[in-house]
Order: sequence, then C-alpha cells, then structure tokens
Amino acid sequence: MAHIAFIGLGQMGTPMATNLLHKGHHLRVYDINPTASEKLNALGAYVATSPKDAVLGCEFIITMLPNGKLVNDVIFGNNGAIESINRNSIVIDMSTIHPLESDDIRNRLRSENIEFMDVPVGRTSDHAISGTLLILAGGTKEQIEKASPILLCMGNKIVNTGGPGNGIRVKLINNFMSIALNALSAEATVLCESLNLPLEKALEVMEGTPANKGHFTTTWPNKVLKGDLTPSFMIDLAHKDLSLALDVANQLNVPLFMGAASREIYSQARATGRGKQDWTAILEHLRNCSGLKDD
Ligand code: NAD
Repeated sequence: MAHIAFIGLGQMGTPMATNLLHKGHHLRVYDINPTASEKLNALGAYVATSPKDAVLGCEFIITMLPNGKLVNDVIFGNNGAIESINRNSIVIDMSTIHPLESDDIRNRLRSENIEFMDVPVGRTSDHAISGTLLILAGGTKEQIEKASPILLCMGNKIVNTGGPGNGIRVKLINNFMSIALNALSAEATVLCESLNLPLEKALEVMEGTPANKGHFTTTWPNKVLKGDLTPSFMIDLAHKDLSLALDVANQLNVPLFMGAASREIYSQARATGRGKQDWTAILEHLRNCSGLKDD
C-alpha cells in the first residue's frame, strides 16, 4: 500500500481521499480549514499541520485545490511541500488550473529533480464519492503506469492524454465545450418556450441531429475533416436559417447571445467567399482567422 499526501479536502478532495483510505492506502492529509480533515481523521488519516508535514515519507503527493496559485503556494510557499519532499516521489496535481501555471510548476519541480503529473478529473463530486471519476492523465508513459493503481481508486477510467501537460489541456477543451454548450442549450430552450413549443417535441427532433449529437461525430468526419467542402448543407443556407431564428427571437425580445455571435461567424465566412461551401467549412474559416496553416 502506498504512502500518499493529500492536500485540499473540499467537495472533491474529501471523497477522493476517502476512497484512497478505503482501498487501504496510508494517507497524510492537509487542508487550510482544520475542520475539513475531521472525517478523514476518523477513517485513519494522519492530519498534517502543513504541506511540509503532509509530504513526509510519501511516494505520491496529490493536490486538489481551487486554483494554480494555491497549488504553487502549497508546494513552494512557506512550510511548503518542497521543504521535506522525498526526491523519488511524484506530485500529482488533480485540480483544474491554468495550463501555463501547471507547466511552470512542472518546470520548477523538474529543476529540483522532482516529478510532476497534471491529472485533472472529469465528472462531478457525485462521481468523486462513488469513485467513478474520469481521470485525464498528463505525464510520461512510465509515470502513468506508476500512478495508475492510485488513480484507479478515485476513478473508473484513465485517459492517457498523450504526454506531460496534455491532461490539463484536454480538461480545458472539454470544459470549454460543455460549459459553452450549456449556455447555447439554454438559449435554444428559452426560444422554444417563448414560441410556446413543447420542449419534448424539440428534443424528439434534435435527438437524431447534430443539434443534440454534436458535430465531431456527425457532420465533420466525412466533410471538413476529409478536406471535402462540397456542400451537403451550404453556409449561405445555414446563415439564412440562423438569421430566421435570430429574427423571431428579436420579435419576442429573447436575447440570443451565443446565437448572434455564431451568426457573425457565418457572415464573416460568407464575406470571405465560403457561402457555397459546406457548413462544416466553418472549422476551416476559424482556422484561417486564427492564423493556423494547412499541413
Ligand atoms: P472546494 O472549494 O470544495 O475545495 C477546495 C479545498 O481546498 C477547500 O477545502 C479549501 O479549504 C482547500 N484549500 C484552499 N486553500 C488551501 C491551501 N492553501 N492549503 C490547503 N488547502 C487549501 O473545491 P472542489 O470542488 O473540491 O474543487 C477542487 C478542484 O477540483 C478545483 O480545481 C475544481 O475546479 C476541480 N473540479 C471540481 C469539480 C466539482 O464538481 N466540484 C469537478 C471536477 C474538477
């Protein structure tokens, strides 16, 4: 059984640490809020007085904190982990933080000959409780192999994200998609209600279309991702349909922020001569706008 330091015992950290204890690991826990560790103490965890105290004799140091500054502080700050860390240990940051801060922490630790992995998690605190988190492992193949038995106490699936730094980057993309889609879905639902259209009917229709299934697995694979921009559904027509929805919403005083921003992208694509291309060419349009070059 491994000796693990767990720092950050909030909504996520407490159940994750609990699952490690239930699997028989030895835990030294630390949280700035003293009451946070009471439950884990009752389950047999040693309650440390500082990050420096928490990491003593540990092979794995897990951080689960609100932001990168705090991760940096518990490692390099006053009474920080760096002061007593075992040089053969791996620091595993499971928080969601800025990728550049994560890179910075990796580089600083590397200069002290200490290994670092970025391993954020997908799903929610309910999954943290049931030990079914989605583990997004950023690290070398060897690090992921070494950490997997520990990580699998907290989650039921590990994705090897393809190298150091990729875990936190995949997390960023996933959250960007799901958080923005939440707002777009809310706009569609509000428009539906304003039109006195039962949401169940809209859901029934969208069930089998890219509206609900997304584009990555429906419209893109056989068109833009294959370099085929011949129109199955033209950008001009997509622009017209989006404009119809915005016009109707406007008459009903329903603001569609995401919808309006999307329409501007379609307008701009038309202005650059893409009107007769397939609507999936929006990807190419945004790649061009971002200065990305073809391979
Ligand atoms: P939380 O606010 O519930 O817990 C954070 C804990 O860190 C608190 O107990 C706090 O006292 C402690 N803390 C703050 N500063 C500290 C310090 N200097 N030293 C030690 N402990 C300190 O947050 P959470 O929901 O557990 O989220 C933790 C991380 O996991 C975040 O980065 C979050 O974005 C990410 N995340 C959360 C969820 C979720 O559903 N809540 C899902 C996936 C990822």
